[in-house]
Amino acid sequence: MSVKKPELLAPAGDLTRMKYALAYGADAVYAGQPAFSLRARENGFKNLDDLAEGVAYVHGQGKKFYLTSNVIPRNTKVEPFQKALLAALELKPDALIVADPGFVGWLRKVSPQTEVHLSVQANTTNYLTASFWKDLGVRRIILSRELRLSEILEIKERVPDLELEVFVHGAVCMAMSGRCMLSNWVTRRDANQGACDNSCRMPYRLYANEGPQCEGYKEHEGEFFLQRTDRPELQPVALDEDTWGTYFMSSRDLCALDVVPELVRAGLDSFKIEGRTRSVYYLSQVVRAYRMAIDASVDALESGDSLPADLKDARHALDFVDGRGFMPGFLKGPLPQNYESTHVEAPSGCVCAQILDYDAQSRSFRVNVKNQFSMDDSLEFMTPEGMSLCKISSLKNFRGEDADRLNPGTEGRVFIQDSGDFSLKNVKFGFFVKRTCPNSGTNT
Ligand code: SF4
Repeated sequence: MSVKKPELLAPAGDLTRMKYALAYGADAVYAGQPAFSLRARENGFKNLDDLAEGVAYVHGQGKKFYLTSNVIPRNTKVEPFQKALLAALELKPDALIVADPGFVGWLRKVSPQTEVHLSVQANTTNYLTASFWKDLGVRRIILSRELRLSEILEIKERVPDLELEVFVHGAVCMAMSGRCMLSNWVTRRDANQGACDNSCRMPYRLYANEGPQCEGYKEHEGEFFLQRTDRPELQPVALDEDTWGTYFMSSRDLCALDVVPELVRAGLDSFKIEGRTRSVYYLSQVVRAYRMAIDASVDALESGDSLPADLKDARHALDFVDGRGFMPGFLKGPLPQNYESTHVEAPSGCVCAQILDYDAQSRSFRVNVKNQFSMDDSLEFMTPEGMSLCKISSLKNFRGEDADRLNPGTEGRVFIQDSGDFSLKNVKFGFFVKRTCPNSGTNT
């Protein structure tokens, strides 16, 4: 039985991240149009030259490059945005991701051959809306993240000729797929113009002004709850604080790994990973996890296996990335979206170093150290081909001196014993990782 393999679509925050995403198994990437995507501030694609290089590289690998042009423009931005879109179209991206209905209509007129994907910011939540966009010439809808799997299946059934893209992993908004004003309110940065400050994800602390006898505001101690005064029967919302504060507006991260077999069976077209601002390491592990999950699900379905696909290795890859606690989103029904504890959940493993290059003669790697590691650590070598144990024979620090350990933020050199069982192919996209991580470790 032949099963349709969905596209694995990864974020490309800049050219480097784009290359790692492809190396680790993405079929397509999405990158922000300079100044006109919702990551306008952090976008590593600064100009048309960056975009041209990105498109050429991706096409050289036989993969796809989607240009995210999903700002919600006001009157003053209409003409500059149109001009920028026309220039970007010359580069022949495989599709434009657009959110504004006016711009979808305009693009269909001025460039009918351009494939348009409707951004998640347009909040498509039902089949009637999906059908409306299809009639307007939209090729693909990026569905709202708040939909249940059963709702997605109904849209697929009722509008079969429309491509559907679903988010499978990454941060989610507290607001319904964006269109949120919280960042405007807290920091005067407009989320809908690409300047969101992630205000919902940040820690807050409760202060009280205790009267004119106090200087300024005082920190409160103890436990706090918010209670609707008109609905005392409702469960109070805990405002837990730890040493960093409270994260009560911050949502858990979406992780639909366990739902991948069902999403594959449903014949959906594209599985999207969020996170254009995340590190190359995070991106590599997450892409690797979903590559394995999709491939295992397709294999299981093709072999007529009624058992769920084996996702053990894919889950293991996610043990090495941090997040705000995972939830399967709304795919399986409404679940508590927010933290129950205020802590960012530490990964069980961590990245020690990113490999910069390899010297075959000395069998050593020049590395950028991310977390401290020592001669005694049992490291694993991670490349797009997989992971394997390796033993360090010696270390040199950034001065070229012998060292027992290497410290984060420095360059160093790692000499390894011949373990013989890992490939050095794609080594430039490799990392050294370890299974246990000190609490202070960071994987971002
Ligand atoms: S503040 Fe939070 S909910 Fe609002 S747009 Fe930014 S990330 Fe989304």
